[in-house]
Amino acid sequence: MSNALKLERYSFGVGDRFARQAKAQLRAFVLAAAQGVEVTPVWNKSHREHTTVGSRPASVLAAAQAAVRELDWTRPFRVDADHIRLDTVDAFIAASDFYTLDVADSIGQPAEHEDVRAFVERHPELVGRIEIPGIEEAFETTRAEIERIACKYLKAVREAGRIYRHVASRKGEGRFITEVSMDETDSPQTPPELLVILAAVADERIPAQTVAPKFTGRFNKGVDYVGDVAQFGKEFGDDIAVIAYAVGRYDLPDNLKLSVHSGSDKFSIYGPVRGALARTGAGLHVKTAGTTWLEEITGLAESGGEGLKLAREIYAAALDDIEALCAPYATVIDIDRARLPPKEEVRGWSSGQFVSALRHDPRDARYNPSLRQLLHVGYKVAARMGERYLNMLEACEETVARNVTENLYERHIKPLFIGG
Ligand SMILES: [Zn+2]
Repeated sequence: MSNALKLERYSFGVGDRFARQAKAQLRAFVLAAAQGVEVTPVWNKSHREHTTVGSRPASVLAAAQAAVRELDWTRPFRVDADHIRLDTVDAFIAASDFYTLDVADSIGQPAEHEDVRAFVERHPELVGRIEIPGIEEAFETTRAEIERIACKYLKAVREAGRIYRHVASRKGEGRFITEVSMDETDSPQTPPELLVILAAVADERIPAQTVAPKFTGRFNKGVDYVGDVAQFGKEFGDDIAVIAYAVGRYDLPDNLKLSVHSGSDKFSIYGPVRGALARTGAGLHVKTAGTTWLEEITGLAESGGEGLKLAREIYAAALDDIEALCAPYATVIDIDRARLPPKEEVRGWSSGQFVSALRHDPRDARYNPSLRQLLHVGYKVAARMGERYLNMLEACEETVARNVTENLYERHIKPLFIGG
């Protein structure tokens, strides 16, 4: 399919919970383009976010289109139906051209014995010594090991096939970009597992352009990576090599690349990631979501006056509702409740105090990752405020927009795609 929709080498997923920051976000991509680095913006929003905020998928496309028009952006942009499943995809058919197929729930559901046997018989090349260019040590696999991996992942890949074919039947083949995501699960996938998964994806005839494995370490919402950065760097490089190998070996799109569902702000791994991209020439998709919403709060607090008041109020309400707000995100946050300041204290905070507690500057001793994580999952509080919150965003637009653009460009796009 030569005229099929193709995702560019570098792409970056931006979330915009309240659909007010598309223009400020797009400015970060304009800045990258001015440096000669083309990064495609992908506006992503999941079914879960839409449900929490009370928005519809069409609003994401509308906000993106308005921003593109206002800034005269003539390069591509995409709209990602993020983490959709067969039961949630239909609402996203009209407004998306990128689909992140979430099959994590099917991982580990044992595949039929017959299917596992047929898979291993179809793929004798996966058993034994596998030398992959770019990976120092060859994999040594046994039949039993490949059977174990197939048993764990075949059902998930089949499910991805079902969702893919459903979208294709409604939109037409080649008219959208497909990502297969397996990140929201308990155990990370090793490079040999990724190879088996890609062989199965090819068997299922899913033209995946991005694949999101679960990496080693913790990817908590809105805060930095927790784990062994060197180990991550090695696995990331190995995964790139596995993908290049699988593309040559199986019938997969030649632009297939890794997708990192970062949960935002994984600054300490950006260096190794940038190094691997520079070394291999590989492409990359990075997904963020809540980082922009947190810049809205930062901007409100920085504005002082009524904006600061509202930021304090949002924190107080989030603290009151901490159990309910954290529950859906339990596996991806680590809040130290002893470090959460009482709301009475925050009520007396100045702009500077609020901003330095919230802003993700690891060198600032006042930065408080527990407060940041609570606010990250606290967007429901602002959703409940409705117009009051949106009007305040408008009143503080300049400060909010500056924070949104600066954050995306300086803290994410530059270290990842430009370097230096
Ligand atoms: Zn994800």
